[in-house]
Amino acid sequence: NLPDSPQPTTHFSGFVHVRGAREHNLKNIDVDIPRDALVVFTGVSGSGKSSLAFGTLYAEAQRRYLESVSPYARRLFHQMAVPEVTAIEGLPPAVALQQQRGTPTTRSSVGSVTTLSNLVRMLYSRAGDYPAGQGIIYAEAFSANTPEGACPTCHGLGRVYEVTEASMVPDPTLTIRERAVAAWPQAWGGQNQRDILVTLGYDVDTPWQDLPQKDRDWILFTDEQPVVPVYPGLSPEQTRRAVQRKAEPNYMGTFMGVKKYVLHTFATTQSALMKKRVQQYMLGAVCPICQGKRLRRESLSVTFAGLDIADFSALPLKRVVELLRPYETGTETGHARHTAAHPEQVEAARRIAQDLRARLAVLLDLGLGYLSLERSTPTLSPGELQRLRLATQLYSNLFGVVYVLDEPSAGLHPSDTEALLAALASLKRAGNSLFVVEHNLDVVRQADWLVDVGPQAGEQGGEILYSGPPAGLREVAASQTRRFLFPAQATNAAPAPVPREPTGWLHLEGVTRNNLRNLTARFPLGVLTTVTGVSGSGKSSLVSQVLVEAMGEELQSKSEKLKIEDDASASEDDLFAEKGILNFSLLLCNSTLTRLVQVDQKPIGRTPRSNMATYTGLFDHVRKLFAATPEARRRRYDAGRFSFNVKKGRCENCQGEGFVMVELLFLPSVYAPCPVCHGARYNAQTLEIQYQGKNIAQVLGLTVDAATEFFAEEPPVHRALTVLREVGLGYLRLGQPATELSGGEAQRIKLATELQRTQRGTTLYVLDEPTTGLHPADVEKLLTQLQGLVAAGNTVVVVEHDMRVVAASDWVLDMGPGAGDEGGQVVAEGPPQEVARAKTSKTAPYLRRFLG
Ligand code: ADP
Ligand code: ADP
Ligand code: ZN
Ligand code: ZN
Repeated sequence: NLPDSPQPTTHFSGFVHVRGAREHNLKNIDVDIPRDALVVFTGVSGSGKSSLAFGTLYAEAQRRYLESVSPYARRLFHQMAVPEVTAIEGLPPAVALQQQRGTPTTRSSVGSVTTLSNLVRMLYSRAGDYPAGQGIIYAEAFSANTPEGACPTCHGLGRVYEVTEASMVPDPTLTIRERAVAAWPQAWGGQNQRDILVTLGYDVDTPWQDLPQKDRDWILFTDEQPVVPVYPGLSPEQTRRAVQRKAEPNYMGTFMGVKKYVLHTFATTQSALMKKRVQQYMLGAVCPICQGKRLRRESLSVTFAGLDIADFSALPLKRVVELLRPYETGTETGHARHTAAHPEQVEAARRIAQDLRARLAVLLDLGLGYLSLERSTPTLSPGELQRLRLATQLYSNLFGVVYVLDEPSAGLHPSDTEALLAALASLKRAGNSLFVVEHNLDVVRQADWLVDVGPQAGEQGGEILYSGPPAGLREVAASQTRRFLFPAQATNAAPAPVPREPTGWLHLEGVTRNNLRNLTARFPLGVLTTVTGVSGSGKSSLVSQVLVEAMGEELQSKSEKLKIEDDASASEDDLFAEKGILNFSLLLCNSTLTRLVQVDQKPIGRTPRSNMATYTGLFDHVRKLFAATPEARRRRYDAGRFSFNVKKGRCENCQGEGFVMVELLFLPSVYAPCPVCHGARYNAQTLEIQYQGKNIAQVLGLTVDAATEFFAEEPPVHRALTVLREVGLGYLRLGQPATELSGGEAQRIKLATELQRTQRGTTLYVLDEPTTGLHPADVEKLLTQLQGLVAAGNTVVVVEHDMRVVAASDWVLDMGPGAGDEGGQVVAEGPPQEVARAKTSKTAPYLRRFLG
């Protein structure tokens, strides 16, 4: 188990010497960083912390590792970025625990990322209770991902799909020509199938319901795939004659039965959208054989502590620990009888239970005891996922390694942060080094050593302002971190604002979802509300799920235009995400709400084709400016010419991506710069057009800060840029691809996009932890923006752990008291001053420190 309080290290055994680091905005810096210590990198967003910790130190460690292990890997990685640095000495091997950026993870579960599932399968195989006469089952047979384990009926999916005439042809009064077969692809694919049926002599102009059943069955269910001449544009009669005289067809077409098409597409398509489309025509039901448990009958017949492995995997980890304890101490019921009958089985149970429990203890310490082994990782927050990975490292017993972490406190309530610090301390005690990029002052204060980067972001950053024990930062005038770490007054208190009066209320009743059971909650309108509580208490379930869905339905039923951000990111994850039980009713009092905007951390796009400039609409203005230059007008280049998504102006080699995808065997594919345009994305002619001395690619390369100056004379562009600066994104380049942006950056881009719109004062804004990735100085800017939205009459609801934000809100809704089954209730509600006095609230003690 973890010690109570981490011990600060003051004597350092050795240092990592960095000389001449120039990655991204780093200004040729030299810095010495101690090993075997907790080192925290601080500085405003964009100052260069990650460029140093990840882009330089981790990247170099990784490069050396790959070079040492395998010339084969080296060949594959020859295009891997080599960090811009003159020399690094004394660098141990590194492991990075980074927050997810851009692309989604593959589908996995808590059990698989932590490898705990392997142990549990072993437990069932070696120490489970088998029905009389059944032979022992190997561990693999307890996994639904193996042929030995998967339920043969549903192939381990837990669901069976049926495709019926009614599901494929929802409106049988239509003819085939009128698209009776809804399941067919839209556009060309569907017409092609229809034309083939015409050649085959089927009647496509009679209502579906009047066709002979034999014809209908063949069209829908045949396994035959005839290849026939196709004459698009000819009438059935003309086609018949063309076939007779063997006229030259336009092409030969292959028919595929509709059901076969649906199942084939579902199983093989790479496109989440296609998958979603065909899934509409599949009727899903829980598998009747395994009841959704995904395993074959023999595997499910083996029990441990009376549970089959599927039920065991659905328990919160906290329960699993309790359940295992008696097996370790030999106090489970029937112990004596078991020992007499199967001593080897009892011994196996004891050893595996011991091992499992030790590993689970780490997860519990990190505040993750409310998760279950079966919980799928796409439903976890990035912070939860990072802590799972951290726990896995904690029991992997490595030593002499540098762990490089990215804001491990994200998503953590202040009371959970203490456990995180203990976990970091135990990695350090085992002889490892910890390099942590972090903004949370509770973590910063515990550092053995601080590296403060700044003074500002981007071009105005990239220097080491301080490197040494935390106390020394007090003397560094240029540091933005200093005033938060060593506030002038004795308290952190901001002048306590007088809470605003709500203009109305929104009531949610009978809310049942995840750990919320028949909950009643109310949100004041026209004010800033923060929702607090330990991680896993139910904040996101209530706010990001139920509140958003309830308001969405309400607005739709009022036939108001609903705007929920982000269809671009519809993904496999959303498709498979299981909705919890959904049950609630919504009541609005005095509401003028007409619009809902959820500003979340989902990527603004999943390919380098989307970027900040396109997402915010800023780029439309810029393209018009280019099209209006005299040279562009002479050449008749319109605004479309300056889009890298359109054929006219873009580089055709990379189709305007600036990158080409390089497929690597056994490894995820990587993007490499396009060899033709060298990343410019445009063809040479387009690049000849200049606006104020810069071509379009150079403009996309400008940071927001630089562009603000460059476009000073263009009010619409200038306004959009100003808002981006105000939310702390001045350091980003206009064309920075969506795939390079962190979740927090994506969220702030969405917020800025909203802020530049005309404010109507009738919008409900919902934000989930918007301070992630923000330095305290940036949090202040964000708060100003949120207050501005409320001042314009809007309602803002924020899930938040940063007590500075909570203290500055008008209303607090504190969830808890604990996580998972121990949470899901409203513990306290009211203005911050009031909630800070609530006896049962875990938030109150932390909030008090921020109130005057
Ligand atoms: P921090 O971690 O302090 O928020 P970063 O190290 O991420 O800052 O960024 C520092 C600077 O480097 C910023 O100006 C940022 O835009 C730039 N930058 C970050 N990632 C990249 C990249 N992949 N390519 C080019 N510039 C980058
Ligand atoms: P918070 O936002 O306070 O951290 P959440 O609302 O995310 O809490 O989670 C509350 C509870 O609901 C937890 O026990 C969590 O494991 C569970 N939960 C959240 N999302 C899902 C989901 N998609 N599927 C199953 N359980 C979930
Ligand atoms: Zn099944
Ligand atoms: Zn190119």
